[in-house]
Amino acid sequence: MIRVRDHKVMTLLKKCILNHEYDDNYRLAAAIIHGKRRFIGYNKKKSHPLAARFQKHPEAIELHAELDAIREALRYLEVADLASSILYVGRLKFTGPNKQEMVWGLALPCKEGCMKAIEAFDIPRVVYSLNNVSCYGEMIHG
Ligand SMILES: [Zn+2]
Repeated sequence: MIRVRDHKVMTLLKKCILNHEYDDNYRLAAAIIHGKRRFIGYNKKKSHPLAARFQKHPEAIELHAELDAIREALRYLEVADLASSILYVGRLKFTGPNKQEMVWGLALPCKEGCMKAIEAFDIPRVVYSLNNVSCYGEMIHG
């Protein structure tokens, strides 16, 4: 069930996306929330051991926002803490006649990469943006 707190985190992610300078056209941000602590990640054109471990193409030079948030969280948390964290993922896309308006786009974590990391780190709940609406999808496992 999506709660008020989820809306707050997604609104925060939207602000993060709008304030971040990206090196490509994808506008994603992710957050790991553990208790009161939050760790934000962005998609980057950058190689990282986490990307090599979980992403489909080990030679990929892209770090997805979900993995970047996990990377950031692991600078401060124990691996075991991820099993009591929530992962949020948001993607904004351009729309409108002049492609100036931004709306949420689907940010379901990719099966071939981020989902593997979510399972490996036992992250019990994932909330993600849906296409063109301001309600959110949710995945629970464990
Ligand atoms: Zn991914």
